[in-house]
This record gives sequence, structure tokens and C-alpha cells, in this order.
Amino acid sequence: MTNHVGPHQPSDLNPMPPVQGMRCFTEAGDIRRTKIVGTLGPASSDETVLRELFMKGLDIARLNFSHGDHAFHLQNIKNIRRISRETGNHVTILQDLQGPKIRCGLLSDGMIELRQGESYSLVYGTIQEKPDEIPVDYQDLVRDVRVGQSVMMDDGLLLLEITEVEGSRVRVRVTEGGVLKNRKGVNFPDSVLSLPALTEKDTRDLLFGITHRVDVVALSFVQTEEDIKRCRKIIQAMGSDVPIIAKIEKLSAVERIDAIAQEADGLMVARGDLGVEGGVDRVPMFQRRIIEAAARYAKPVVIATQMLESMVKNPRPTLAEVADVANAVLEGADCVMLSAEVAAGEYPIACVEKMASVIREVESWSHAKPQRYSSLEPTDQEEWEEHKAIARAACEAADSLGARAIVCLTLTGSIARLISSWRPKTPIIAISPREDVIQRLGYSWGVFGMKNPLFYDTDILLQDLPELLKNLGIVRKGDSIVITAGIPINAMRPTNMIKINRIG
Ligand code: PEP
Repeated sequence: MTNHVGPHQPSDLNPMPPVQGMRCFTEAGDIRRTKIVGTLGPASSDETVLRELFMKGLDIARLNFSHGDHAFHLQNIKNIRRISRETGNHVTILQDLQGPKIRCGLLSDGMIELRQGESYSLVYGTIQEKPDEIPVDYQDLVRDVRVGQSVMMDDGLLLLEITEVEGSRVRVRVTEGGVLKNRKGVNFPDSVLSLPALTEKDTRDLLFGITHRVDVVALSFVQTEEDIKRCRKIIQAMGSDVPIIAKIEKLSAVERIDAIAQEADGLMVARGDLGVEGGVDRVPMFQRRIIEAAARYAKPVVIATQMLESMVKNPRPTLAEVADVANAVLEGADCVMLSAEVAAGEYPIACVEKMASVIREVESWSHAKPQRYSSLEPTDQEEWEEHKAIARAACEAADSLGARAIVCLTLTGSIARLISSWRPKTPIIAISPREDVIQRLGYSWGVFGMKNPLFYDTDILLQDLPELLKNLGIVRKGDSIVITAGIPINAMRPTNMIKINRIG
């Protein structure tokens, strides 16, 4: 790798740095800031479908470790990396750990129709052995539940009541019926279950994910900030610093949201389980509280579950679903997530396309409004407070100049995340020598990452940056850009500089 390029010699800028998410600057016209997460599954793992999902706007591929084996996930990881390289449109890989979620096992015919008034036995196991039995993967169930408590299945769509606890089985009666499919979640909202935050399976899956270099890990059923600390220690012991997104799906997590937001690297509003735990009526307000907590600590937040649910079967969403996506964007989501719609639905590509189009509509409206600065929690950390001052000045300069981009030269990505948390109208380009940092910025609102090996040579990079961006088609003659950097860069300084540049 050469460390020297002469001034304004485009040929010296080769090899072209990998570009992530930048197609929007050069091809699609409208830049979309809110990112789209899509869960890969049988409907979306085929390479042709995956490639199409990339083209329609998938930013983050979620590998759901509640389903599929390691061979399945590995194939997806390989395909994602290959298509990323081929298209220059890098997709971030999110490993979602199952956590201590209880699920039913494999059912005869892949499903059972549960009718109101019918009785079944919940038994510990993985495969249904008798017509009136439902296998569940929690061994100590008999010890932890009581007669009269409720059982919910499939994100609360099916409701049952415990009528008897005897020997190794828990007898239940269906109160609200429907179709139960393989491996659907089973919740016990009234019961206190003695489950660990990170199961043995999660630890095995985590090691697999780190070995295959996933970009970010989502931890399920977080109850307190201690769960994040424990998980981080395990990740460090595995030799990694992969960021952790805390899935907020328990009431105890909502109650400790500020402490969790400070400790985690991002939050996910896991509305399915949250609705089961706290009641669906409370989910919209929980969503708002969680988004606000994320903004207080400049942490990205993902809104998940049932966003375009009817598109599992239909080619078009309902008006309520479109409004749900739009409201999530207006409330301040960094990412909106598709689950079954993309993993197992009939129209995975149309879902991503529709979500991208709704986001663009909302953003074109909301960007016509004046820039606002959210109230980040004041801290006693001098460096962070300096970062905040620089980030604010960069946003204001970009806004008043109508700049084409705020370009952050960043080692850790933290300045880009901070600027993103204020939702500037100007897109943020983060340039880092670290590919993992670039990949991790994939889930921050309005941030587009670019790896550049010339990063360490301050003067050269600052001097050649306009030309580099021009060659990539990101800026044109006459455009302004606002640059933030920590100089001297090779001294690894935190951001301490703003430079305004008009492209010649
Ligand atoms: C949820 O409960 O909304 C969620 C995202 O979690 P999972 O899909 O892993 O059950």
C-alpha cells in the first residue's frame, strides 16, 4: 500500500476504495437516510433474490439465530460478502442471538390448528410425538409455572391458559385459537422464569458469528445493563470488539432504558415480544420512550416487527402499515426492520422496495423543515463535550452552506454517529481505514461509509479528498463539503478540526 499520492492525480487514487451505500449519491438520485434491515430466511437466501434485495435498498442483513443452522448462516454470510464486493454496495451483517426465548418444536405437518376450548400438553422436547402435545424447548417449565397463568404463542397471536401442572407436562386450554407453526415463540407473561441472559446456544452462536466476522450482534431479552456488560466480556474474551444492540422486549428493560442505552451500542424495539410482555396497547409509547433514550446517548435504534406484515401474503401493504413505517421514521428511527416479510414471505423484494419508497417520501417532507438539535445528556467527559461542539458546528455549517456532504475522517466512527443523532439534512460520509468501523456505521441514520487506506497521511488525504469524491461522482464542481478530522491524523487524535471546502 502506498502512503503517498501527489496532489490531484486521479490515477494515483487507485485502487478505488470500497464504497458502501454510495450508489444513492451517483445513481438513485434521492439519498435515503433511514436504513432498512431485512431478515434472511428461505424466501431470501437464494443468490438471485439476495442480489435483488441489495439493489432495491437492503442496508443490513439480519441473520436470525432462532432459525437455521450454522451451515445456512455461513452460506448467507459468504453470499452477502461476495455480492457486496461485486456491487460495491456493502451490506452490514447483524447476528441476532436467540437468547432465552422459549419456542415450540417441530410440529407434525409443520403446523397445528389450535381451536378455542381444545386442550394440549406442553412437554419438554423438540419434535411433536402425540397429536395433543406441543413440544417446547424449556426443561424447567413444570417448576416455574402455575395453574391459571397464561401462555402466549406466536408473538401473542394465540392465547392459552394453564389448567393443570402434573409430572412432566403442563396442560393448557386454548382461549384464542389460530394456526401454530414450527419454532414459534412461546411466552409466559405471568410467570417468573429462571433463564440465563446468554444461553449455551447463544455462546456457541456468538463464537460462530465472531469467527465469521459479523458486523454487529443483537442480544435478546436484555433485562438490565448487566446483561450487556456480561456479553461484552464474553465477546472480548473471544478477541473481538463487535458492537452489541440491546433488544428491548422485556418490561424490565424498558424500566432501565437509560442505563441500557448508555451501555449498549444500539437499541432495538423488539415490538413482537414487547407487545406480548407489556400488552400491545403500550407498545407505541414504549417505542417512543426507547427512541428518545437512544437519542439522549447518540445510539442508533432499530424499529422491528410487523412493519409490513400483510406483505407476507399480499403484494401491497395496508395503509396502517405504511403509516407505521412513516411514523417510525418521523419519530427518529435509524433503521426499520423486516422480519417474516423478507425471511419467509411471498414478496421479499417488493417489501424492501416499498419500505425504501415510504422512507424517501417521509424524508423529503421532513427535510424541508429546519434543522433541530436534540438534547444529548450532558456529561463530565471533556472529549465527548468537545466532540459535541464540533458535531454541532459541522451540522450548522453544512446546513447554512447547503453542503453536499459532511465528511468525517474517523478512526472509531463515533463523530459520525454523533452527527447522525442530530439528523442533519446533509448526508454524512465517514472515511475510515478500518473496514469493521465502516461496516458498523451501516446501521446509523444518514451515514455512508468509505474505507480509505490513505487515512493516516493527513495532509495528503485532506488535500486530495475533494478530487477523490469528485472521481467517485459524489460531488461536483461548485459543491461545498464540510470535513471533520482529528489532526494530526497519524497521531490518532479524536476529532478536533472542521474544514470547509468548495470543490474546484
Ligand atoms: C421481536 O420480538 O419483535 C423481535 C424482533 O424478536 P425475534 O424476532 O427474535 O423474536
